Amino acid sequence: DLKSEFLMDTIVTVTVVSDSEKKADDAIKRTFEEIKDLEGLFNFFSPESEISEINRKAAVAPVKLSVDTFHLLEKALDVSAKTDGAFDITVGVVVNLYDFHNKTRPSDSLTKEKLPLVNYRNVILNKKDQTVFLKKKGMVVDPGGIAKGFAADRAIEILKSEGIGAALVAVAGDIRGYGLKPDGKPWKVGIRDPRGESIDDIIATIDLRDMAISTSGDYERFFIENGRRIHHLIDPGTGYPARGIMSVTVVAPLTVYTDSLATALFVSGTEKGLKIAERLGYDTLMIDEQGKIHMTDSLREKIEFTKGNI
Ligand code: AMP
Ligand code: MG
Repeated sequence: DLKSEFLMDTIVTVTVVSDSEKKADDAIKRTFEEIKDLEGLFNFFSPESEISEINRKAAVAPVKLSVDTFHLLEKALDVSAKTDGAFDITVGVVVNLYDFHNKTRPSDSLTKEKLPLVNYRNVILNKKDQTVFLKKKGMVVDPGGIAKGFAADRAIEILKSEGIGAALVAVAGDIRGYGLKPDGKPWKVGIRDPRGESIDDIIATIDLRDMAISTSGDYERFFIENGRRIHHLIDPGTGYPARGIMSVTVVAPLTVYTDSLATALFVSGTEKGLKIAERLGYDTLMIDEQGKIHMTDSLREKIEFTKGNI
């Protein structure tokens, strides 16, 4: 049984294996409801969301959080620390100066003016009170690089609790699966050719055995200006789109980590990014701007390339 809905600003697809259609339908329904609840908390653009409240109260007062939002921010700061700040949930203040629909980007002076507001260290979590405080006026938190992964993990928890034996959840490029397909084989996920014509144009496949996988690429949201690709993965150190890579894929047990790490390792670049991946023990594939493949040793036996030229 397979269903898709448009949630969290993207397509969410839930596939479950079950002998009872009713059980499958009920489980999928609960899963979408739960993701809708999370979207209500995390939606950057809705004034009603908890994230918007946090941003409004920047430099004013700490905000008491729901358990989920607190966890999301905790994970985000954890990944920032593990990636030397390459993942930074406060980068939204710069990201939102880009309009990929109308193909406009901020001036250099505006980027420079806003950059001091980007620093995850100014997000102060208080575990005892379950609050967050943004230290600087004008700061924002933008969970766009981690919320989809958080939601996919939740979806899997719900499906398991509903007694579903095998499932695959995809929140855009953030995918997690468990159990086996009806044909007894593991879930197989394709890795896109970053310069391919469509999402069906893949360069490799990976078997997903009770694992999560995410890909961040410069083809997701971008425009071309004077031959240069202006995309949505921003280096918090410079305030500009990160250079040198076309896509990064990370495999790990939880989507909350694969989502945020794919973004972070994209920013880190091939050399530093692979070091971080090896240190964390996560399989990683990177395609640099020349189209050259870089990957962790542990990935080699799990990946199957489908294009002869690599
Ligand atoms: P993803 O497509 O999962 O890689 O997430 C991209 C989204 O994450 C962007 O649209 C931004 O909202 C946000 N983002 C971009 N750069 C960063 C960064 N360096 N750290 C954290 N979030 C980021
Ligand atoms: Mg991501």
